[in-house]
Amino acid sequence: DELISQIAAGEVVERPASAVRELVDNALDAGATQVTVRLLAGGVRLIAVEDDGMGIPRDELPIALRRHATSKIGNLHDLESVATMGFRGEALAAIASVSEMALLSRTAQQASAFMLDARSGELRPAARSQGTTVEVKELFFSTPARRKFLKTDATELAHCVEAVRRHALARPDVGFAIWHEGKLVEQWRATLAHGEPADAQALERRLADVLGEDFIRESVPVHLRSGAITVTGRAGLPDAARSRADQQFCYVNGRFVRDKVLTHAARSAYEDVLHGQKQPVYALYVQMDPQRVDVNVHPTKIEVRFRDSREVHQAVRHAVENALAAPRA
Ligand code: ADP
Ligand code: MG
Repeated sequence: DELISQIAAGEVVERPASAVRELVDNALDAGATQVTVRLLAGGVRLIAVEDDGMGIPRDELPIALRRHATSKIGNLHDLESVATMGFRGEALAAIASVSEMALLSRTAQQASAFMLDARSGELRPAARSQGTTVEVKELFFSTPARRKFLKTDATELAHCVEAVRRHALARPDVGFAIWHEGKLVEQWRATLAHGEPADAQALERRLADVLGEDFIRESVPVHLRSGAITVTGRAGLPDAARSRADQQFCYVNGRFVRDKVLTHAARSAYEDVLHGQKQPVYALYVQMDPQRVDVNVHPTKIEVRFRDSREVHQAVRHAVENALAAPRA
C-alpha cells in the first residue's frame, strides 16, 4: 500500500512546485487572506505553506491526510460544479507519502493549535493563530529515483515561484509572500478586500506587481462578453514579449489552466492582428458556466475539457483580436 500510494503520488507531485501549488490551493480553499510560502533548498528540504484560513479541527487532522479524504465534495452532483480548487482529497496524502509532513492548525473555536506529525501520527498542542501551516520536509527522501530528477535549487525555486505567481494572478484579493533560505523573494499585497470579485483595476495592480509595471504599459485590456462566456485580462503588445513561454497565463473560472483551445485562440488572434508574434505575453480570464467545463480530467487539474470548445475558442479569439486592434491612446 505504501508503494501504491508512492506511485499515485508521482502523478500529483513531480517536484517541489507541484506540492507548493497543491498547498496554496488548499490555503485558498480555506479562505486565506494571506498565504506565506517558506522554502529551503528550492523546496526540496522544506516547503512550509502558512495561511490564515479557517483551519482544520483537531479531530480532523488525521483524516485530512487519508487518501480520498476531502471535506469539499459531497456527491457526484457536486463534481459537476466544483467551486473549490481541490476536490479529490489526494494531494495531502500523496505529498505525505513522499516526504516528512506535519500539519499545524487552529480553528476559530479552538483555544490552541494542534500539530500532527504525519509519520508518527503524534498529535500535540502547539502555538499559532487561526489558520494552517503545512510543512513538507525532505521531499522524495524515500524515493531516490525521483529525487535524482530534480534540478538545481535555483531551478526548483523558480518553478515554486511560478506556481505561486499563477495563484497570485487569479486572486488579487489575497496577499502572497515567498521566502527562500530566510530571504524574502516575492511579496504581493492584496489589491482589494478579501472575497471581492476582481475588478479591472485590482487585477491591473496585481498584474503590475507580479509581471512588472512595464507589462501594464506594454499591454492592452481585454474585455469581451460572448453569450454566457466572459473573457477579461490583458494582452501584451510586441514590446512586452519577454519570450518566455510561461508568461502566458490562462484561467478558467479562476483556475490556472494549460489548454490548447485557449492558447490556439490567443495565438490566432496575435497572428491575425499583429501578423504572427511568436511568444505573446498575456493573462486571460475566462468566466463561464461551470457545468460547461470539466476540470476533473487530470490529477493536477491543470487541464480542462470544454463541452463546447468552438464557442470558447471563438470568444477568446475575438476578445484578444478586439483588444489588439483597438485604437490606442
Ligand atoms: P482536497 O483539497 O482535494 O480536498 P487535499 O488532500 O488537498 O484534498 O486536502 C484534504 C483535506 O484537508 C481538505 O479537503 C481540507 O478539508 C483539509 N485541508 C488541507 N489543507 C488545508 C488548509 N490549508 N486549511 C484548511 N483545511 C485544509
Ligand atoms: Mg487540495
